[in-house]
Amino acid sequence: MAKVFCVANQKGGVGKTTTTVNLAAGLAKVGQRVLMIDLDPQGNATMGSGVDKRTLELTVYDVLLESASIAEARVKSEKCGYDVLGSSRELSGAEVELVAMERREKRLRAAIEAVAQDYDFVLIDCPPSLSMLTLNGLCAANGVIVPMQCEYFALEGLTDLVNTIKQVHANLNKDLQIIGLLRVMFDPRITLQQQVSDQLKAHFADKVFNTVIPRNVRLAEAPSYGLPGVVFDLSAKGSVAYVDFAEEMVLRIKTM
Ligand code: ADP
Ligand code: MG
Repeated sequence: MAKVFCVANQKGGVGKTTTTVNLAAGLAKVGQRVLMIDLDPQGNATMGSGVDKRTLELTVYDVLLESASIAEARVKSEKCGYDVLGSSRELSGAEVELVAMERREKRLRAAIEAVAQDYDFVLIDCPPSLSMLTLNGLCAANGVIVPMQCEYFALEGLTDLVNTIKQVHANLNKDLQIIGLLRVMFDPRITLQQQVSDQLKAHFADKVFNTVIPRNVRLAEAPSYGLPGVVFDLSAKGSVAYVDFAEEMVLRIKTM
């Protein structure tokens, strides 16, 4: 049965999508069966997995509205080695449409349960908000991976996310926990980043992943080729770090 993880942080530009697609590709490289679900209407994780969102007939939008199953809507990314449940522009409308519907927070969860046997990992790329879409992700997940930059305001934004996760845990999804904080875009030459990283470890202890993702231009270049860094250039130090992170996650789920 698949373990399901949301990659979430309500800030934009913190590395959620980069983490989702590179972790997916890293897990595929080490032999895991992976489904990547793009819950962000921007569709960056879809495009960044070699899947053209403009040509998709069915997306996660249809799954949320229950007009298609994941088995019908998923596509295989041959280049990346994992399956993709893509996103499209329409998804931004789902937010409003879902409000009036029954079981509105649990639709993604139900859909994933139907394909859970097919995968070891399901990774969900969340939009930069704590919206109904993110809520569907959190209700479906066993755990949350929180990418963060080691900057001065990083901890501030974390409080809202932690509170939301606590509420979802209490009311909607008893399985949910923060699996870990992932330090991304890390530059060890910047003293402040070292300090914030030390603070994170002091406050959150084993909730901070051992792997640190460095700032690496190859990771930023890869999306323009429609690929995760791990597929675009496996030798880049950012790609090596994401494969290490995949191995850390494989070990981590053994204790879940
Ligand atoms: P989010 O999904 O949280 O909005 P993205 O993953 O899209 O964030 O990342 C924001 C920007 O930072 C993108 O341009 C991405 O290519 C770049 N980026 C992400 N991680 C790294 C990294 N480790 N090194 C360099 N650039 C990165
Ligand atoms: Mg994103």
